[in-house]
Amino acid sequence: MNGKVVMDCVDAAYASIRQHADEIMVLDQSIGDGDHVFNLIRGLEALRGIRGDIEALDFAAALKLAASKVLSTVGGSSGPLFSSLLLGMSRACDQLNGDPRSYAQMYAAGVDAVQLRGKTGRGSKTMMDVLIPVAERLSELADRESGVPLILAELPKEAARGVLATRDMLATKGRASFLGERSVGHIDPGARSSEIMITAVCERLGKSVNREGPPRPTDLPPRGAASDASVGVVSSQ
Ligand SMILES: [Mg+2]
Repeated sequence: MNGKVVMDCVDAAYASIRQHADEIMVLDQSIGDGDHVFNLIRGLEALRGIRGDIEALDFAAALKLAASKVLSTVGGSSGPLFSSLLLGMSRACDQLNGDPRSYAQMYAAGVDAVQLRGKTGRGSKTMMDVLIPVAERLSELADRESGVPLILAELPKEAARGVLATRDMLATKGRASFLGERSVGHIDPGARSSEIMITAVCERLGKSVNREGPPRPTDLPPRGAASDASVGVVSSQ
């Protein structure tokens, strides 16, 4: 994993957010002020604008730089929250070792940072209703030693369940909370945009797992050769 993987994920998230921009805007116009998707697009475009800088870094440093760029370019509440996610993950990169459990811990550290920043858990009709269940599902699947392809296929389903759950929730945080009972019956735009980005990132990472695959015996370097080809799929990036 390195800065190139970070940019691949940013590109995937950007393409999918652009594709769903009208839908997110309409959701946000119902219970917010309609600017959420534009804030996200601005942040993702800012990251694409410093592609060379991010791609030159190792994974932790790339996440940290992305966090500071998002913080300085994204307005509304989503800037500080997504920045906290990236920064929280960057601080938990030391433990990465190719084991899915180490990635689950890294993602959970990011989600914890968002939770601290936003002072919100699940059930308040926010992005946390996607981020937290996805972190829990990731941890559960990793603990069961599920394969990476299965994990990447399951997380979008958990994210989608989280989005649907926000429909019946009463908003108690953010602008939507001003609507009180009238917020019930609407899907939260922040939960939906988080689902869209998580799904795009999982699909992107799934493609690289499929393409590069677990190393076959013929791919392995000669005995004694210095190479990372025999390292697990995830850590080989
Ligand atoms: Mg807004």
